[in-house]
Amino acid sequence: MKTLFVRGVLMLGLVLVGCDTAPVVIKQQFYSFGTIVEVSLWGVKPQQAQSVFLQLQEDMDYMHETWHAWHEGPLARINQLLPLGATFSVAPSVLPLIENCKLLYRKSHGLFNPAIGGLINLWGFAQDEPPLGPPPADEALRPYLETPPSMDDIELDGIRMRSKNPLVQLNFGGYAKGYAVDILIQRMQESGVRNGIVNAGGDLRAIGMKGDRPWRIAIRDPRGEGILASLAVQGDESVFTSGNYERFFTFDGQRFHHIIDPRTGYPAQGSVSVTVIHNNAAEADAAATAIFVAGPRQWPEIAAAMGVTQVMVVDDAMHVYMTPSMAERVHFEIEPLPAVTIQTLP
Ligand code: ADP
Ligand code: MG
Repeated sequence: MKTLFVRGVLMLGLVLVGCDTAPVVIKQQFYSFGTIVEVSLWGVKPQQAQSVFLQLQEDMDYMHETWHAWHEGPLARINQLLPLGATFSVAPSVLPLIENCKLLYRKSHGLFNPAIGGLINLWGFAQDEPPLGPPPADEALRPYLETPPSMDDIELDGIRMRSKNPLVQLNFGGYAKGYAVDILIQRMQESGVRNGIVNAGGDLRAIGMKGDRPWRIAIRDPRGEGILASLAVQGDESVFTSGNYERFFTFDGQRFHHIIDPRTGYPAQGSVSVTVIHNNAAEADAAATAIFVAGPRQWPEIAAAMGVTQVMVVDDAMHVYMTPSMAERVHFEIEPLPAVTIQTLP
């Protein structure tokens, strides 16, 4: 009887606390960074949620403009100055991206290379309209293979910068979204939010829980609009996927996508999607891109080099490769189930 009573009081308490902090998920979507950004919050009042949504959208739009590779802005200015070879002052808002990406370039053994903006231009992926082809001529690609631009070509001294290689053009398309998601999560936390998700076009970072259970998130089926797999995330985890379906064109019956292998100058072969779970979004984003370039044979080496342990690679025959710690938590949502190889990292 006594325990029943105590339980009753506890239940009432929970309900009251619930009323105060809204025990539901409040969601909002907005368009930014060329994709739909969905913010989910748990345990905040509707009014507070509205102000968080507004702040996040403002910040996201600001970052999109600042780090855009071809729209007018600080990065576009840097790209105009780089080929001249002289030293110039960089906008401080871009500096952390350059510094971080120099490290990630090294860690990825050069496969994550935001200095290949020129190559991405040649392929037509640095423009608002979807490219139609044709692929660039070998002549046009040759300089990028003979004197390959790299993040090591960039010399930084405070906010002063120059490139030793005139082919260096910066494109943070494989990193900026992750870096921005980290900043939005930080902003959320500063506003007192403890439980939430920032999901930018399927790439996300989740903190806390959805009430008394973990968040559940989906990984897109690289063949279409459906879901390949789902998994539970909680605490503080980022899930980022690089896919060949995001941007591509078909020419002469052949498909050319937007993740370029700096070693060949061509779209990376072998993978159709790579998912990485990591403790921050920026590195998860870079690692997904690098591991995609590495492909279904070299991926364990690059994952290990980048310090990520939870990885899933889907190859162009829909064969799935996973690390043991990824395999433990992935729940496939497709029929028939894909063939899976579990591989430990070197
Ligand atoms: P998604 O758009 O599927 O999330 P990514 O995060 O891999 O994919 O980003 C792809 C973008 O990164 C390309 O559109 C291009 O701007 C840029 N990029 C392409 N190849 C590379 C590379 N090897 N290293 C770094 N960035 C790249
Ligand atoms: Mg990426």
